[in-house]
Amino acid sequence: MRITFLGTSHGVPEPNRKCSCTMIEVAGNVYFIDMGTPAIDALRTRMIEVDAVKGVFITHMHGDHSNGLISFVDIVNWYFRSADPDIVVPDLEAYHAIKNWLEVTKVPLGRKIRFRETTPGLIYDDGLVRLTAFLTQHCVKSYAYLVEAEGKTVLFTGDLRNPNVDFPEMTTDTKLDLVVCEAAHFEATDYLPRFLNKKIGKICVNHYSDRYLPSVFSLFAAVSDMKICTVLATDDLEIVV
Ligand SMILES: [Zn+2]
Repeated sequence: MRITFLGTSHGVPEPNRKCSCTMIEVAGNVYFIDMGTPAIDALRTRMIEVDAVKGVFITHMHGDHSNGLISFVDIVNWYFRSADPDIVVPDLEAYHAIKNWLEVTKVPLGRKIRFRETTPGLIYDDGLVRLTAFLTQHCVKSYAYLVEAEGKTVLFTGDLRNPNVDFPEMTTDTKLDLVVCEAAHFEATDYLPRFLNKKIGKICVNHYSDRYLPSVFSLFAAVSDMKICTVLATDDLEIVV
C-alpha cells in the first residue's frame, strides 16, 4: 500500500504543512484517514479519479481532522455523483451537520451518501483493506485505526491523550509494519515504553508541533537501537509498505 501524507500539521496549519489528512492507495482504490484539509483538491491535482475513493475514516471530529470532509461531500453530492465511498465518522452528528450546511449552500443533499458511526472493533472490510478501530481518550469519541492490506499492517494512532493511557493495545505478536503517530500533546518519548517488545518496522511521526519536536528526535535516537526506521512526515511524503 502507498501512503501519502497530504496534511501533517497539528491543530493549526503551519507554513507548508496543512492539517491532518492521509491518503492510502491499494490496488487502485483510495482510502483516507482523516480529512482535515480539502482532499478533493489533492485528488484533482494528482489526477486521481474521485470514484476511486472507497472509504473515508475520521479519527475524531476536531476540525483539523474533519474540515475537508465538508468540501468532499459537497462535490460528491452534486458533481462526482458516481463516487460511492463509505464515510465512517466517530459521531454521526457530522452527517446531519454537513446535510444542514449543504442546505445553506442551496445545493442540498440530493443523493444517498453512506455515513456511519465508528464503533470499536472491525469497522471496514472490502476484501482488499480491513480497518479496526480502537477507542482513545483524546476527546469524547476518538479512535486509532489499524489498517491491514496486502499482508501489511499500519497503525494510525490519531490524536492521543498520552501513550501511557491510550496507545492501542493489541497482541504482542502483531507485527506493525508502520506506526503513524502524533506528537502535539505530549513528549514523543512517552511512546518509548509502548514501543518496547513490539514488532515495529517503521515509525512515522506526523501531526507534530514545534513544542514537542525536540522530543521527536530524542525518540528517533532511542528507537534506532531497536532497529526501527523513523521518518518525520512532511506534506506530500509518500511511504510504500
Ligand atoms: Zn488534531
